[in-house]
Amino acid sequence: MPTITLEAISKHYSRQSTAVKNIDLHIRSGDFMCLLGPSGCGKTTILRMIAGLEHLSHGRMFIGDQLVDSPDSGCFVAPEKRELGLVFQSYALWPHMTVEQNIDFGLRLRKLPERERRSLAGEVMEKLGIAGYAKRYPSQLSGGQQQRVALARMMVLKPKVLLLDEPLSNLDASLRLEMRAELKRLHQEFNTTILFVTHDQWEAMTLATTIAVMSKGQLQQVGSPDDIYARPANRFVAEFIGNPPINQISADSVLGKHLNCHPGTNMLGIRPEDIHLTQTATPHTLPAKVLGIIPTGGSWVLDVELEGQCLQLSTQIRPLVKVGESTYCQIDPQQLHAFSADGNRQES
Ligand code: ATP
Repeated sequence: MPTITLEAISKHYSRQSTAVKNIDLHIRSGDFMCLLGPSGCGKTTILRMIAGLEHLSHGRMFIGDQLVDSPDSGCFVAPEKRELGLVFQSYALWPHMTVEQNIDFGLRLRKLPERERRSLAGEVMEKLGIAGYAKRYPSQLSGGQQQRVALARMMVLKPKVLLLDEPLSNLDASLRLEMRAELKRLHQEFNTTILFVTHDQWEAMTLATTIAVMSKGQLQQVGSPDDIYARPANRFVAEFIGNPPINQISADSVLGKHLNCHPGTNMLGIRPEDIHLTQTATPHTLPAKVLGIIPTGGSWVLDVELEGQCLQLSTQIRPLVKVGESTYCQIDPQQLHAFSADGNRQES
């Protein structure tokens, strides 16, 4: 299976608007990569350039060893020659065709013999759990079932790489969860390389083997979900990933000084789960006042005041304190994230 390599790629839709700025990215064979970032940061543009639906403005793109787009050398390989599978938010099944016929459509275009087509379609319908709906029309299926048909229609063609643009966003919460598990299973079973666009950090954290975080057309960090969460490369990534969000403490504040910032530290980040409630004072605790308690089903989020600053902590232990009461908090210095004035992570 090929890798996809983006070398210093940029996309300008007009002179004023640069959607993607100078991105280097390597998608390894068998990877499940999520492009993650807020709306308008350029995720879809990257996907469309890989699919060949947009031309690069600058840079070079390879699928495997093959150069597929390079404005400098005038090279551009047409979308249908790239052997990629694309599934968008709106999965657009043919309404006048049954599930079976929808899946068969691409195989027919490839002029495969009927017996082989049947066997391939049967196999993929079985794997995706839609064999029972083979004779139904899309209008007779739920959103999740239609989504599975859309995936089956792609998978049956055995694309080198599957490109998915927010494919779960039209589904309700429980179906999304079901389809996430399905996608993960499919990835393992077919060992397909997947590039998945989402603005949902939870989706990216649960699905991806590698996450590429983007902001304003630029890549911020590429790494495993664990890496991105535990060692955010800059303040944008630290703020974007994590719910409740990371607490930010100015190094100049009383609390910042208490936490012993290194020289050059401008901002400290503390994840809510790294602040611990204790009932007794020790040399490592700080006095705190509880401002609010939010139960979140199996865990609790507390608003606490520490050295005049309001922070959020999360805990899986039912808090014994009540709103308005005083208590103590402990912050493990090993779990602090330090950022310099330019927003980049400082290594300790
Ligand atoms: P979303 O999550 O909302 O889909 P995105 O991260 O996928 O956003 P893109 O759709 O890639 O972002 O858009 C990136 C930028 O390029 C945006 O500012 C958008 O307005 C602009 N843009 C996208 N398509 C075009 C186009 N065809 N012509 C001009 N500008 C465009």
